[in-house]
This record gives sequence, C-alpha cells and structure tokens, in this order.
Amino acid sequence: MKSVIRCTILLFLLMGLVVPNTTAETLPLKVFSEEDKITSLEVLEIREAKYVLLKEVRELFSGTIKSEHLTGRTTVTIMGKRIVFTLNQHRLMIDNEEYVLSNPPASVSGDVVVPVEFLTGIMPHVIGKQITLDQKNRVLQIRREPFVDSNGSEISSPEPASTGFRVIIDPGHGGYDVGAKSKVGLFEKSLTLQIAQQVKSLLAEKQDLHVYLTRGEDNHMTTAERVTFASKLHGHLLLSVHFNSSPSQRSSGFRIYVNSNRMRLGTGMDLEADIFSRSHPVAGKLSEAKRFIPQSKWLAREIKDRLKGIGLTGEEPKEAFLADMDNLSMPGILVEVLYLSNPQDLMIISRPDFINSVSQALADSILAFKAFMEDKGFRSAG
Ligand SMILES: [Zn+2]
Repeated sequence: MKSVIRCTILLFLLMGLVVPNTTAETLPLKVFSEEDKITSLEVLEIREAKYVLLKEVRELFSGTIKSEHLTGRTTVTIMGKRIVFTLNQHRLMIDNEEYVLSNPPASVSGDVVVPVEFLTGIMPHVIGKQITLDQKNRVLQIRREPFVDSNGSEISSPEPASTGFRVIIDPGHGGYDVGAKSKVGLFEKSLTLQIAQQVKSLLAEKQDLHVYLTRGEDNHMTTAERVTFASKLHGHLLLSVHFNSSPSQRSSGFRIYVNSNRMRLGTGMDLEADIFSRSHPVAGKLSEAKRFIPQSKWLAREIKDRLKGIGLTGEEPKEAFLADMDNLSMPGILVEVLYLSNPQDLMIISRPDFINSVSQALADSILAFKAFMEDKGFRSAG
C-alpha cells in the first residue's frame, strides 16, 4: 500500500516537472494593499487556470518558504501561521485546519506556483483581512476590513416570494473557479450550471414552489455569498450541486452530504466536498445547521434513491461540516453527482440524456421533499 502511495506521489512530482500548456500571461496582476503600496504579481496560465509564483506571494506578505524537493512538501510561514501543502495536491493545512484548492499548487521550471484562489481563498484566513480580485481589471486588493467567514458580503438576492416553498439551487464553482476538470475538457462549473438550470425549468410553474439559482451564469461566488443569497430569500432548502474529482481514478459514484456541525470531514476522504470546509468554525457558536439535520437527512435519502433509480451508484449520505454553511437557517445538502476523474463515470456523464435524467431525479426529490414538509405542517403561506 505504502509503495503504491509513493509511486503516486512520484508520478505527481514528475507531472509537476513537466507542465504542458503553460504560458506566461502578458499582463501581471496589480496588487493594492492597505498601505497603498502597489506591487504586481506575474500570472501564469496552467491548464486554463491562473497561477502566481509562490516566491512573489512570500515577498508580498513578508513570509518564509521551506520546500522539500524530494516529497514536494512546502511550508510557507506568514504572520506566524504555517501553510503546508504538497505539489499537485488539492489539500493544504493552515496550522491544524484543512483547506482545499480547486487547482493544486504546481511546479513550473523549478518554481512553485499557486493558483490565484490561494490569494483570495486561503490568504484571508492567514492574514485576517479581506482580499478581493477584480478579474476584469486584473487588480488584487488587500482590504483594511477584517475578514469574516460567513457574513458581511453585499449580495443582492431577488425579493423572496411572500408565499410558497422556496428552493435555492446552487451550481458549484463558476468564473475562474472551474472546479473539477476531466481529461476531455469537461468543467465541473458548466455541468453544475446546466443541471441547476434544468432543475429550475423542470420545476417551473409548480404550485407554491419558487426556485432560485445562486448563479445563472458563469460567474464566481464565494460560499459565504451563496449562503447569504439563500438566507436573504428565506429559503426552505439550499441544494448545492457539484461534481467530484480524486487523485485516485478508482473513486466513483455519487456522494451526498448533509450540512451538519457534528463533524468535519476527516483526512482521507474525497477532497471535493471539502471545498466547503475552507473556513474556520466559529468556536462556541451553536450551529443553526443542527436544527435542520433530520429534514436534510430525509431529502438526502430521497436524492440517493432517485439517483439510484436512474442507474447511478454511490454511497450512503453522510453528515459533513459544510463550513460557511454553519449559519444556514434551512436544510443544506451538497450533492457530488459523479467523478470527473473516473473513466466509467465520465462515460455516464457523456451520455446525451445525462443532464436531463439527473435534473429530473433532483427535481422529483425536491417535489417529494416539499410534500414531506407540507405533511409535517409546513404552510405555504410561510
Ligand atoms: Zn465542486
């Protein structure tokens, strides 16, 4: 077993040395920090994701880097916090908290590079300040405002319908965050959007039911923004749609996660659901999520049965700490439909009826859930 792991690591290391499709971008990223100090970062594009050089990040935040060339393990120390990651692996640790990057750190001509999301998604947890990226103008702004995990974002939601059951469907990823990628160039962000739109259209004109999408186009949103969107709508359900990816090609099938504060996803599990575990749980705060676990579990089982009904296989639903969702005042479910890294799953995804049959299964699950809630005394006037 250990030698298999070593071989895999070696393979990833070799992949890291030879990175195809790497192009230096002509325009660097301008960085504005709170002291109005202006610097710039060189941007590289690797497999359509934007990367920056770790040594420039270190310089920007006055940190130190220690790289072990044999294992690919890199430790960056910034403001007393230790960020530890391994080349080509999505997971990283900040002190003892685990985080996940959509695109893993890599090596280009001997230089360690990290995805731009390292700056916007990881560094705020390290320096405790907001960092925002203006894609269009290529400006990265390090803000004075303290970084807060689950609120403070100015997200506009449509006015909630005053009556009826309000379902928020959340297509995972978007914009520069493409999510998982298949070898044939399928992006998770596009599949999730297609399914969300299809579910919405399947549920259009159902009585007392209103379906909203957190994003209806290819734009980037943080998890906190998605939760804020759902909260402002006073939703009765937040259903996040994702696709999975694993360094092991053998991982396959669906995974269904119920938002719960009872446990965090442990190491050794698949990384994709951890995308929601980026932020720190707020110590001592009793999670709202707990109230909704029984309802969420009911829906999770329903989704599992209906996905099986269309011929998919997968695991029993699990409770997971979907961080940033810990303030969510409604049932929260995350479905990882299939693995973009698994050849058999990819064949299923490529079928012409795939999007429609998955969407139908999800739409039917939502209708069953609404009936279940009404049975339990939910009034559509609420
Ligand atoms: Zn995802």
